[in-house]
Amino acid sequence: MTKPDSGPRSAAPAGSASSAAAATPAASGAAATPAAPVASEAPPDNRIGTGIRAVVGRGTDQPASWGLGDGQAIPWEYAPAPESREIVQLQGRYGLFVGGKEVAPRGGQWFTDLDPATEEPLAEIARASVEDVDQAVGVARRAYRRAWGELPGRERAKYLFRIARILQERSREFAVLETLDSGKPIKESRDVDIPLVAAHFWYYAGWADKLDYAFPGRVARPLGVAAQVIPWNFPLLMLAWKIAPALAAGNTVVLKPASSTPLTALLFADVCRQADLPPGVVNIITGPGEIGLALVRHPDVDKVAFTGSTAVGKEIGRAIAGAGKALTLELGGKAANIVFDDAALDQAVEGIVNGIFFNQGEVCCAGSRLLVQESIADVLIEKLKDRLATLRVGDPLDKNTDVGAINNAAQLAKIEELIEAGVAEGADLYQPACELPQRGYWVRPTLFTNVAQSSRIAQEEIFGPVLSTITFRTPEEAIEKANNTAYGLSAGVWTEKGSRILMVTKRLRAGVIWANTYNRFDPTSPFGGYKESGFGREGGLQGLLAYVRLEDR
Ligand code: NDP
Repeated sequence: MTKPDSGPRSAAPAGSASSAAAATPAASGAAATPAAPVASEAPPDNRIGTGIRAVVGRGTDQPASWGLGDGQAIPWEYAPAPESREIVQLQGRYGLFVGGKEVAPRGGQWFTDLDPATEEPLAEIARASVEDVDQAVGVARRAYRRAWGELPGRERAKYLFRIARILQERSREFAVLETLDSGKPIKESRDVDIPLVAAHFWYYAGWADKLDYAFPGRVARPLGVAAQVIPWNFPLLMLAWKIAPALAAGNTVVLKPASSTPLTALLFADVCRQADLPPGVVNIITGPGEIGLALVRHPDVDKVAFTGSTAVGKEIGRAIAGAGKALTLELGGKAANIVFDDAALDQAVEGIVNGIFFNQGEVCCAGSRLLVQESIADVLIEKLKDRLATLRVGDPLDKNTDVGAINNAAQLAKIEELIEAGVAEGADLYQPACELPQRGYWVRPTLFTNVAQSSRIAQEEIFGPVLSTITFRTPEEAIEKANNTAYGLSAGVWTEKGSRILMVTKRLRAGVIWANTYNRFDPTSPFGGYKESGFGREGGLQGLLAYVRLEDR
């Protein structure tokens, strides 16, 4: 999976300022000249609320140059290209999806789901109670006993194929809704999230009748009822990662989406109805974290799958310890993206940008620490600043937007607090000049250089569009610094030398490592971490393994 190219645009009308600019050396990939001094004049600060003044770069209206390594904004603007939201029919209120039907919450409570780009309400969402959790688990148990657990794999496969096909047919509707609810750019939900969602259902549909081949010599039995709690950064994709293998293996599920992004999960309920999935095989309940906790603790749950923060993952681990439930945890990360001096630098710049600004950096495997070899640090940083100046921040529904809205107010506050901590700890801040919308939750793409290993921005998961740069001299030092983290989810290595890729990847403690690329996903490929990034794998055969009990023949 790659983020669609958002590099220097050459698609503007011939003769326009953009086409002239696109012919400049940097736009055509030639080496940039040394950086001009920046921040010599007070920059316009359009940030809302943070009070950070150290923004570098002049306003977009008076660009002095382009491609000189000084991070100036590009000298042209695109006309708005908004995706229509007409295709989405929002309900005023969404109940719980239990037993194949939408039901009202027993406690009669609702909460409001906001559009993070405008702070406007999108819908009222049911707040499940502990009784609702109990009912959903009971319904899932009955569906497991009576309908799904004993259904031949080839029959389960038909439903999964049907779901995959419906998801593809309704992909535009899902993409628009995902963007409205999460704040991610439409080009990412359209070209990455939703295609991957369908791909996961296609892939696991293929395994449903082939479990004997998946685990040769063993009998694969379903575990029973799976409780699944998912986060807000990839709402529908995390649902697919969890529901597709669970159903393929013969389990039934109760899933709780994040409270700030429940809408695509609730639209998925409609897909289940459309596919005639037997009632109770998939149940979706909405509500706060304590409802997630009640769900995973429920005594009739056999398997727990969680993606989210390390703190909550640990809490879940403690809550179900000794209960005999199978558990997989996919938690946070602080990935090192390591660039050696022989790397193809322009290619690496694209990978670095993809690694940290894709989905506003709200990605557990984001390449949030740039480890760059000292001898090329200056030129790489210059190129990176130029590239950052081309990123378009704003309306997530605009097809040209590269960086959308931060998902929720609490996350925005966390990112801003960590940016301020980075400045206070002495790192150098660079943010390209760009106008941020007046309402909604926004952060400029942020680059820190001169970052100390011990600083908070080098150690803590920021989960936002913030890159911390650290230099190294030798491969040994790079490996040591990369592994100097509590996390172990992902990493990237950029070098022309194959033997170095093999040597470095072998010694990095990370579950997923990309070489000369970043953020590529595929349903056939397992994903998961070490250390505080959790355990267990999702995707591929390993993802299926997490939902079966293997018995001897
Ligand atoms: P959380 O871990 O709190 O939320 C993830 C999911 O767990 C949501 O559905 C949430 O529900 C639910 N939840 C919250 N508390 C509990 C609990 N005690 N027991 C069971 N389920 C619970 O993430 P946040 O949204 O609070 O984000 C905080 C930080 O976590 C981020 O800044 C980021 O660092 C990290 N994070 C990591 C993700 C990853 O992919 N690894 C994804 C999201 C966040 P509800 O939404 O109702 O609170």
